[in-house]
Amino acid sequence: MRLSKVAREIAESPTFALNEEARMLRERGEAVINLGIGEPKNKTPLSAVLASAAKLTSGEVKYVAPDGVPSLKKAVVRYTEENYDRLVAPENVLITNGAKQSLFNIFYSILNPEDEVVVLAPYWVSYNQMIRMCLGVPVVVTPEDGTFTPRFEEIERAVTSSTRAIIINSPNNPSGVIYPPELIEKIVTMCEQKGIFMICDDIYHKLTFDNHRAFPAYHFTKKDVESSHVVVVNGVAKLYGMTGFRIGWVIAPRELVRVMTNVTVQITSGVSPVSQAAAEGALSGVQSMVEALRLQIQNNRNVLLQEIKSFKGVRLIEPQGTFYALPNICAYSNDSVAVSKFLLKKARVVVVPGREFGMEGHIRISFAGSPNDVIEGIGRIKWALDPGSPSEIYIGDKRIVRDWS
Ligand code: PMP
Repeated sequence: MRLSKVAREIAESPTFALNEEARMLRERGEAVINLGIGEPKNKTPLSAVLASAAKLTSGEVKYVAPDGVPSLKKAVVRYTEENYDRLVAPENVLITNGAKQSLFNIFYSILNPEDEVVVLAPYWVSYNQMIRMCLGVPVVVTPEDGTFTPRFEEIERAVTSSTRAIIINSPNNPSGVIYPPELIEKIVTMCEQKGIFMICDDIYHKLTFDNHRAFPAYHFTKKDVESSHVVVVNGVAKLYGMTGFRIGWVIAPRELVRVMTNVTVQITSGVSPVSQAAAEGALSGVQSMVEALRLQIQNNRNVLLQEIKSFKGVRLIEPQGTFYALPNICAYSNDSVAVSKFLLKKARVVVVPGREFGMEGHIRISFAGSPNDVIEGIGRIKWALDPGSPSEIYIGDKRIVRDWS
């Protein structure tokens, strides 16, 4: 069949295959623990439920402004002022179907064929695919020192005359690291000097632990949003655990928002007003649940650190935010896809291979679920990988025998 070359080259996701297998195992009654999924288990905030229910019961669910419902845009303007200390106008805001569409729309609107975007490894899986879909070229910078934080010099070296943007995700999916403020400051300055967009994927910006804080890039520039090269992406998915409502947004100069709006009109005509009402309800409602969620996830992170301590050979850079950890499992195998398949088959635990994030020899473990899932899941992984552990265990009433076949 003759299909698009660009579309054909979008890589198949091993995660997808693993999740599918996990679903089938669960349907067969197997006790699968999912440490792969990136979503908290909380219920939707009541203010969001009520606002979207009111929109629905009004019976007035029609096309809305493609750049977003004005009252939600105003709520995002307020959010930006309160959380980024930055004054923006509604014309600087675009509401999208999740942060994912924000990112795609930005790449589509700023890239010409062969333009480059600098991506820092470990990176979120979708960046490189989206950049390629927009005919751009991802240029990956992998920290040479084996950490998850590249040095500024490494980033600077990757910038060429074709570079149009650099994408920063801090706190970072999949490693949980927060880049130091000095690094963010240097990148902001470099982008301003070279006229490069600095795309900040801030989707986890409030999910930080202990005394760590992710400083927004705006903090390091005196330029207003029109002349700054900082473009911010955020949304309700991780902030309020509202993954299914699919609401994200971009803060950018008006010209870019105008172009992205035209792109949106042709693709989706905008976002469902029911979901937009929910997002507005969440942003305008009581905010204590954001802190409650953060504390719960921080507790899960602490449980994970405790469990991983006794894991011989596994090295972990402590996550400072998000709900992911990226332990190095090279002591057991360099092939993270094989390890992930093995863990699902033998221990009934879903994890994501580090290869997906540009970090082979690692697996990503999500601690977004319950502390019990984390304890049980890590226990099973330890059992499966440690050659010194008994060769069989019971999971539920199932006898599981460890072998590398
Ligand atoms: N950026 C990162 C780093 C993410 O981890 C995710 C979700 N996994 C997204 C963006 C997409 O968020 P949304 O669900 O709002 O599309």
